[in-house]
Amino acid sequence: MHDVIIIGAGPAGLTAGLYTGRARLATLMLEKMVTGGRILMSETIENYPGFPAGVSTQELMRRMEEQVKELQVEIKSEEVLEIDCAQKSVKTEEGAYKAKAIIIAAGSRPRKLGVPGEEQLTGRGLSYCATCDGPLYKGKNVVVVGGGNAVAEEAIYLTRFAARVDIVHRRDELRASAILQEQLKANKKINFILSHVVTQISGSKKVESIKIKDLRSQEERDLACDGVFIYIGYDPETDFLKNKLHLDDSGFIITGEDMAASEEGIFACGDCRKKSLRQVITACGDGAIAAESAYKYISKGTTYGAKRT
Ligand code: NAP
Repeated sequence: MHDVIIIGAGPAGLTAGLYTGRARLATLMLEKMVTGGRILMSETIENYPGFPAGVSTQELMRRMEEQVKELQVEIKSEEVLEIDCAQKSVKTEEGAYKAKAIIIAAGSRPRKLGVPGEEQLTGRGLSYCATCDGPLYKGKNVVVVGGGNAVAEEAIYLTRFAARVDIVHRRDELRASAILQEQLKANKKINFILSHVVTQISGSKKVESIKIKDLRSQEERDLACDGVFIYIGYDPETDFLKNKLHLDDSGFIITGEDMAASEEGIFACGDCRKKSLRQVITACGDGAIAAESAYKYISKGTTYGAKRT
């Protein structure tokens, strides 16, 4: 029996663990991938306060983990398969655990394009992680798909290796922040293919080309490339919570400002939560609040979790 189980060890979960650890709540953290979470798919983070020159995500997450471990928070590498909100228990492949409160910081996973060739060529020239696979494309031509901050950062990163980086985006303008757009436009290796969608990814053994469609003229053409990186947003890792908690239509957990989910003693924080801005800094903020609410719930009997729609 623990005081708190935290599901997920990304920035939100680690910050929640920092606060529950400092409150001397016996805390178990369960992480199915690697401690640090999805942010490790980016190489550096430039908008985390206190690091004017940016900071390596590996370094930032290593420090967060170290800080939490010093507080005797136990981190186990196990995937949560099921949760019982009333019992405050979770099941993993390895076992079952029970606590007085649960904090869900399960994060999100890259969204897929859903076009022919995507499944077959994943890992064979098609990737969702430039940090992992970018160095393989030295002197090659790559395409990145999407128009948000992730596409902008990863396109710039890929220019370290690739000879040419084409950004294919469905609208005629990106939604990436102004400072990133300035950096994109100043980079000679980057080309924009706007108002286009990818309709197919082709290649016999590995990616050789993609088919793109001009949404203004409806014309389709082939674009030769050696690699494709997809950055079209993220879906929440909340499949194990269906019919357990109130989720929005996209599967994000609905909480109040206190991070309380729809069931008593269950809290959610970070990218898996319905919110307007998903950043490391907002994930950390959520994590601190979720831990504080869990502490008040356990230690002071504060009531949380009125049904929210
Ligand atoms: P995002 O901001 O949600 O942008 C997704 C992009 O993909 C949008 O441009 C969207 O087009 C496009 N898209 C969505 N579905 C598509 C489809 N089926 N086909 C083609 N294009 C599609 O996602 P993100 O850039 O991955 O970032 C995710 C979150 O992390 C955001 O909150 C972002 O701000 C944050 N983030 C922040 C930083 C940073 O601040 N340093 C870095 C990385 C990520 P439309 O524009 O037409 O909708």
